[in-house]
Amino acid sequence: MPKVSLVGAGPGAADLLTVRAARTIAAADVLLADALVADEVLALGRPGVRIVRVGKRGGMRSTPQDFIHRAMARYARRGLKVVRVKGGDPFVFGRGGEEQAYLEALGMEVEVVPGLTAGLTAAAAVGIPVTHRAYTHGVTLVSGTAGDGCSEPDWAALAKGGTTLVIYMGLSRVLNISARLIAAGLPPDTPAAAIASGTLPGQRHLKTTLAELPARVQAEGLASPAIIVVGAVAALALPETRALVDAQPGPGAALRVLAA
Ligand code: SAH
Repeated sequence: MPKVSLVGAGPGAADLLTVRAARTIAAADVLLADALVADEVLALGRPGVRIVRVGKRGGMRSTPQDFIHRAMARYARRGLKVVRVKGGDPFVFGRGGEEQAYLEALGMEVEVVPGLTAGLTAAAAVGIPVTHRAYTHGVTLVSGTAGDGCSEPDWAALAKGGTTLVIYMGLSRVLNISARLIAAGLPPDTPAAAIASGTLPGQRHLKTTLAELPARVQAEGLASPAIIVVGAVAALALPETRALVDAQPGPGAALRVLAA
């Protein structure tokens, strides 16, 4: 039976891949990889493996989902070992559910290899314990993006829920998100953090309040991929650091990390 593996590659750093993900990638004939999957991860493929980039990034040129579905099925029917590599976990804002349903409808076997999801991992990487029992009884993962078949999250319900919020794909709408949550009753001084490129060499984070978050994101030029954490636990984040490219030009210009 034709088979496709949906593999989560974790949040970015190649050494945060699971052992099973690394083994599955190494056994592949074809790797269909998302934009957020690092070259270092794809380098685990065997020599001669076919690598197809099917990246999809907010606001950028993207591969239609339909093309990805058909490509997976076409390679699998040829008897090739097809591995679909996704950032984070395949089933957390990753369209893994749609891909699984499509392949199963064609009578194909689907294997799922879970991965560390970026929201929880990026928060942990900057010292935020998302479910610290002294502060909250849970964590909610939410998409900050409306459109593309998704409706706007119910910010009012989320504000009343009392859990830590970990918001994916929210950076470009941070002004709207902050305003909606405050309008729904969250105090403006609720701790908030944003973490960009979590676990990657360019990781940066901001530690602030819900009201100040949009201005800080803009002033600091924080860039995607990034997650936003809202809730008391965000105050436990490590002190902010800022990566600065060494002012000295020429070879060896190092990246200095300075405490802000
Ligand atoms: N399936 C993925 C999420 C895909 S949606 C997972 O489980 O992690 C893409 C969003 O994930 C980005 O817009 C961003 O919000 C978040 N993201 C992915 N990698 C990230 C990283 N290294 N640091 C911070 N956020 C990240």
